[in-house]
Amino acid sequence: MRVGKDIWKECIPCKGLCCKWETVLLTQGEIDRIAKKVGKKDFYKKKKKYWVLKQDKDGLCIFYNRKRHRCNIHKVRPFDCEVFPFDIEYYKGRLIWFLWTFCPVVKKQKLSKKKFDLFLNNIELFESKILKEFTEKELIKYSTFYDPNLEEGKTWKIIRDVKLLK
Ligand code: SF4
Repeated sequence: MRVGKDIWKECIPCKGLCCKWETVLLTQGEIDRIAKKVGKKDFYKKKKKYWVLKQDKDGLCIFYNRKRHRCNIHKVRPFDCEVFPFDIEYYKGRLIWFLWTFCPVVKKQKLSKKKFDLFLNNIELFESKILKEFTEKELIKYSTFYDPNLEEGKTWKIIRDVKLLK
């Protein structure tokens, strides 16, 4: 189930910076969904206590298509990829939506207000549909992957608290 609209057309010229930089976390549901799509299960590994997508020798995600500069599993890409440059972090006891400000689209302020508002609408859809895949405990575990001492302002910016479904 994919609810996000393809509002990131500007992403293509950066040639997959986030597909190289980011460690993509996977839930069991995502592993099953991707395995069904690609017909194998050798695309992930354990990092710390999490399942993550494998990367090639240059650090690019193994599903990144270098010729077309696109994702080979776009329709079933993980939540982590789908919401980028937004993300969820468990920060100072709060589950928050935040924005990675190192993303070139964000840096160059190509993220217009119209698109930002569109994404905010998508956040509501993510909360009402995709987040059903996580229990609160799983979501907190999933959201504590990054260094908890990261300071807001350098590479990311808080958007708002995550509204958990009951
Ligand atoms: S799954 Fe697709 S969108 Fe996600 S990091 Fe890999 S290539 Fe990029």
